[in-house]
Amino acid sequence: MSETGIQSAHIHERAEAIFQKPSLQEAYRSSTLRLYTHRLQAIAEVPGFEALRDRARALKREVIERLDEYLAEFADNVERLGGKVHWAATGDEVCRIVREIAQQAGVKEFVKSKTMVGEEVELNHALEAAGIRGIETDLGELIIQLAGDRPAHIVAPAIHKTRQDVSDLFVEHLHSERTTEPERLTAIARHALRESFARAEMGVSGANFAVAETGTVVLAENEGNIRLCTTSPRVHVALVGIEKIIPRFEDLAVFLRLLGRSGTGQKLTVYTSLLTGPRRAGEDGPDEMHVVLVDNGRTAALADEKMREALYCIRCGACLNACPVYRKIGGHAYGWVYSGPIGALITPQFNGIGVARELPFASSLCGACREVCPVRINIPDLLLHLRSEAQKQTSSAPSGGPPRGERVSMRLWAWAMKRPRIYSLGGRMARWGQKLYARQGWIRKLPLFPMSRWTEGRDFPALASQTFRERWKKLR
Ligand code: SF4
Repeated sequence: MSETGIQSAHIHERAEAIFQKPSLQEAYRSSTLRLYTHRLQAIAEVPGFEALRDRARALKREVIERLDEYLAEFADNVERLGGKVHWAATGDEVCRIVREIAQQAGVKEFVKSKTMVGEEVELNHALEAAGIRGIETDLGELIIQLAGDRPAHIVAPAIHKTRQDVSDLFVEHLHSERTTEPERLTAIARHALRESFARAEMGVSGANFAVAETGTVVLAENEGNIRLCTTSPRVHVALVGIEKIIPRFEDLAVFLRLLGRSGTGQKLTVYTSLLTGPRRAGEDGPDEMHVVLVDNGRTAALADEKMREALYCIRCGACLNACPVYRKIGGHAYGWVYSGPIGALITPQFNGIGVARELPFASSLCGACREVCPVRINIPDLLLHLRSEAQKQTSSAPSGGPPRGERVSMRLWAWAMKRPRIYSLGGRMARWGQKLYARQGWIRKLPLFPMSRWTEGRDFPALASQTFRERWKKLR
């Protein structure tokens, strides 16, 4: 495990552990498929959906290219409206800032709505060490907290938990009756959380978007817990990744139409809160509003012109639901809070390729993620770029480099490719040799290394009976 808590090494071992649990695999398969199908239905109802995606991408590009200006504009507007802006370069700084805000306000317990940045910097652990207890109020996050677990999905953190798991957790930690009825389980959580909302003096939230033009923090949710977290306690702290900025208020119309549809297939999430400064005279809401603008590796990603595009992400989770690898191995195999295709991109970016070098390889590069991404991030292309970065780093290490067998095979391949006659002879020999192993167009087992390693994990398509050159000759 790294200092940041990343465990991205040994992804194969963790994936293997999941393959041993059919119920877990079924939970991932059915949930992702449901979200994927809902998205398809939802976007089919929107005329001009593709144009909307283009517009969102253009807006994100605009903001990321001029992030310093938009951040300054957002910060000025928050302060003008009576909020307090804090800048945090690292995860530790985020925790320190929130701890100091809590200590100054005499807070011993706070309520927290779902924030991936909070997970990223391990806020709960840091504050607990200072004697300040955080209570998750999003149902999925509450389940994760009670289980001492990590989110398995950006949008649905407890996607891997069955009703039975939830029931066991509630009996053990909330001393509730034993039930697996979703309505009863929700009622139990609601009852337990209500007391926490009433007690808490500070609420911590994330942000889906932060509008530079107006200094507004925008939060989209389905349960209403964010609304309570941000308005009921005396102090509200919003953790905002610096890439969450959007330029103008009118741009929200573009992003909100994409977010719900892409993530869960909803036209709009049930609640959308627009928070512009603390309570004014005659209003409800917190006395203090703090906005923590979080870098934690994001400017490093910004510095790489090629990889900058990953910061366009609006965390809708659609790429996870579409990814055949995520559906199979689940969120925890990726080893950090962000999983799936976007996790494989931003984990190495935020933390350095050294601690997350296996992640860019956890993809079939099929392009399903790119197809569904509402801001059209070219995820496969960026993964290839990261793969080459990872490979460069390994090759420069004294004992690094790809395995010897792979190096020899690649050299042999390159040598043959430059000699058409030898290449063609090799093809003829391989076609002849495969007769021993090919069945119905597939080779399922090969005896010789390194090909035996390939067929250990996947089937190999049999070579066509004629090469392209032979067919071309006949056609002409
Ligand atoms: S990369 Fe695209 S699809 Fe994946 S979470 Fe981000 S915005 Fe959604």
